[in-house]
Amino acid sequence: MSEGIKYSIVIPAFNEESLIEESYKRLKNVMDTTNEPYELIFVNDGSRDGTDEILTGICDNDSHVKLINFSRNFGHQIAITAGMDNAKGDAVVVIDADLQDPPEVILKMIEKWKEGYDVVYGKRLERKGESFFKLFTARLFYRLLKSMTNIDIPVDTGDFRLIDRKVCDVMNSFNSVREKNRYVRGLISWAGFKQTAVPYIRDPRLAGETKYTLKKMLKLAMDGITSFSYVPLKIPLRLGGFLSAISAIYLLAVLILRIFGISHISMWGIMIAVNGFFAGINFMILGVFGEYIGRIYDETRNRPLYIISKKVGFDKNNEDNKR
Ligand code: UDP
Ligand code: MG
Repeated sequence: MSEGIKYSIVIPAFNEESLIEESYKRLKNVMDTTNEPYELIFVNDGSRDGTDEILTGICDNDSHVKLINFSRNFGHQIAITAGMDNAKGDAVVVIDADLQDPPEVILKMIEKWKEGYDVVYGKRLERKGESFFKLFTARLFYRLLKSMTNIDIPVDTGDFRLIDRKVCDVMNSFNSVREKNRYVRGLISWAGFKQTAVPYIRDPRLAGETKYTLKKMLKLAMDGITSFSYVPLKIPLRLGGFLSAISAIYLLAVLILRIFGISHISMWGIMIAVNGFFAGINFMILGVFGEYIGRIYDETRNRPLYIISKKVGFDKNNEDNKR
């Protein structure tokens, strides 16, 4: 029944034995109400608990369910990518296994998709049951990233979203968007197409602990920033320019004061100004390197120059030529 699938639901899971069965049931109940063909693709990201056994059992009993098992833990973003690679549906939904994103919201996303939107992302109005630290750092991170990039990456949205087949194809196409340090939600924003939001309230985790350790969170944040912003590479140039400029002004002032005998400023003062000036130049040279490295990075990433959503009139010409 792989052909004609309307919806693919991609569910990454890492050590989720305490809730995966319940998660499957909720998703199944919601998807059954659509009365349209769907598949649930679980991606087991190298779990070391019973997740594999439970999912294999579910697969055996329900033909809607598919399982991709990783040989080790490759990380959430890679798990999502593997699910999207293997999804057959006309629309693909990515959702966490821990039921923090209520499966019922998928139905609202589908409505929006049927209205003609290609990307429908879930926007978190509120996040329940999460630590102050997590809420604070997440809020800060989304705003920092937004301020550092030209791409319109919406704030307070995770990977819980629906994407149309054509957006999924762009993400999956080889030699284009196959970045290794992936920040999937950013790539989807970057891809463009008609995007809209569905607001929802994020529930607490159904069971177990977060699988996003501080280390994994930092890695995700760094991937988000380095994939979509040059700003860190530009810091030395700006800082150096600023430092050199104020040192030069200071030096000029000191020299004038000395030459006209208004005030006597020691050689030390002058040396500090000269030193600051050259330190600034050093920074600026680093910044110039940064600009080049940024461009090399851009070239190696292999993102396509553009993505076409529609072409009109081209086939018509071909027909005319044949006649
Ligand atoms: N996850 C994964 N691989 C990882 C870490 C997490 O596949 O290395 C999955 C996890 O099982 C869950 C989703 O990614 O389905 C989100 O993780 P989690 O709920 O732990 O993150 P949080 O909601 O706390 O940010
Ligand atoms: Mg979670």
